[in-house]
Amino acid sequence: MSVRPYRDIYRRKSRQVMVGSVPVGGDAPITVQTMTNTLTADVDATVAQVRRCEEAGVDIIRISCPDEASTDGLAKIIPQIQVPVVADIHFHYKRAIEAAEAGAACLRINPGNIGSAERVREVVKAAKDHGCSMRIGVNAGSLERHLLEKYGEPVPEAMVESALEHAKILEDNDFFDFKISVKASDVFLAAAAYQGLAEACDYPLHLGVTEAGGLRTGTIKSSIGIGSLLWAGIGDTIRVSLSADPVEEVKVGFDILKSLGLRYRGVNVISCPSCARQQFDVIETVRVLEEKLSHITTPMTVSVIGCVVNGPGEARETDIGFTGGGKGTHQVYIAGQPAHRLKDEGIVDHLVGLVEAKAAEIEQERLEAAAAE
Ligand code: SF4
Repeated sequence: MSVRPYRDIYRRKSRQVMVGSVPVGGDAPITVQTMTNTLTADVDATVAQVRRCEEAGVDIIRISCPDEASTDGLAKIIPQIQVPVVADIHFHYKRAIEAAEAGAACLRINPGNIGSAERVREVVKAAKDHGCSMRIGVNAGSLERHLLEKYGEPVPEAMVESALEHAKILEDNDFFDFKISVKASDVFLAAAAYQGLAEACDYPLHLGVTEAGGLRTGTIKSSIGIGSLLWAGIGDTIRVSLSADPVEEVKVGFDILKSLGLRYRGVNVISCPSCARQQFDVIETVRVLEEKLSHITTPMTVSVIGCVVNGPGEARETDIGFTGGGKGTHQVYIAGQPAHRLKDEGIVDHLVGLVEAKAAEIEQERLEAAAAE
């Protein structure tokens, strides 16, 4: 029995597949993916974008391969980056084979869409030969005609049926190393499809609300859709889909996981909205602080609270706490205990210094623990 059972999430038991060196499903941590939006043939631009995503913590990156120039580019990109690559293929089975040869760790491809059984066999052979897994990606906007005729419109049952039909093709080819997504831009449709699929199979699920919108609306839709599924224990890897910089997708992905206590990376800032009682400018302080702490990867919590109404209580639960006090007597807490007071000047820099020192300490302890093992 856990100390706080109201926080427990019981993950659906899924089989595990590998995307290169990154496990997806089973008891592996839920991974965060994004997708590049540069031209894949533009190797330098794509490598630069992937590296920025790597700095933000991305676990897996998807790269589109619409033509031969892209798979040529992929072969040059992969040796220059760290994270495993999912090659995104639509229809052209030759691109899938080329991507596998180029070093892709996973192929995002729907076997039912690539034509003959012989082509499927060739793709499966290439995947096996090169150690690639696959992702079946069903999208409400491109459901097969026979399913639309059967169901009248994209409904959850149609999406699940589509996914299982594609899965059957791979299974018939003795290939089981795949994960599945059933995305829709409608949160209800996506969530219901994933719930249905979660019950119908034990393949790992890649969650996403597709075409979710811009940074703000897309974040909200994804948080509701992906968040509610994760909360219910469904989902092994996630991609937040935003009309924005892929780095933002990575950040939002981690924030969703952090909010649910499923994964920790970097500083989790707890701050109040501020009001007339605030003893310093909370909003501006948090804005600058988050910016200056974005390089920290060590999981930590920092509370920044405008006054004593909630400050001491929040600080008790955090690694570093800061509470506004009257006449420049702000209180700093370390490990939940009052440590020292601070005047109005240099609040952000002081907190950044404390967080960096604490992060270094945690990392040192981790290294020592690893060495002891
Ligand atoms: S903690 Fe204090 S400053 Fe912040 S919102 Fe609450 S009452 Fe206002």
